[in-house]
Amino acid sequence: MESKEKDLDLKNDHAEGILFVISGPSGVGKTSIIRSVLERVERVVFSVSCTTRKQRPGEIHGIDYFFITHEEFERMIKENKFIEWAKVHDNYYGTPAEMVYDNIRKGLDVILDIDVQGALTVKKNFPGAKFVFIAPPSYDVLRERLKKRGTETEDKIQRRLETAKRELTFIPEFEYLLINEDLEESIRNLMSIIYAERLKFERVKNTTKVRQLIEEVQ
Ligand code: 5GP
Repeated sequence: MESKEKDLDLKNDHAEGILFVISGPSGVGKTSIIRSVLERVERVVFSVSCTTRKQRPGEIHGIDYFFITHEEFERMIKENKFIEWAKVHDNYYGTPAEMVYDNIRKGLDVILDIDVQGALTVKKNFPGAKFVFIAPPSYDVLRERLKKRGTETEDKIQRRLETAKRELTFIPEFEYLLINEDLEESIRNLMSIIYAERLKFERVKNTTKVRQLIEEVQ
């Protein structure tokens, strides 16, 4: 494609980006899957959430999360700065609205990694979003993965496992179910979902290119 055409395609005549909401229990491997998909798929960006939870070793402010105080978070709730927010394990987590809207408008797809409560809020407010649940092959596997991760105390692991049990009951609310048995396979499956959603006729039917094609044959 000529670069001029490419510009036109992006600036004036693109379908809106798609909002992909990815949920699943803590420890299921969401972060690893999403990270690889972001590296491999063009035109998709990650929505960095705000949280009041403590930064873990290796996490970077502005990349993994925006680590903010309770006061800041509550101020942002009042100012309507989130498209959704939830309290998970005593901490606030929320999706800042501005970046999501800007990117969708530009035609970029946006991935949210949020908990089930948050996903259900998005489902109510954004019917066009796509919902993917990532599940472990079994509850035992999840328990092992959480222990191996070693970032949480035994008490916190127990709480996360209880939350996971509750979250798994919400699987039927999601459009796609991805069982993370093998990381590489899961990455490819999530990529397939993104590519397939991009090709839906409903999404591209109003772009000039598609309209012209249809007019030509009428
Ligand atoms: P962690 O503390 O392990 O990073 O995340 C705990 C849970 O919070 C995960 O299930 C994660 O998906 C969820 N989470 C992260 N960001 C958000 C957010 O912006 N909103 C909601 N509702 N949940 C989030």
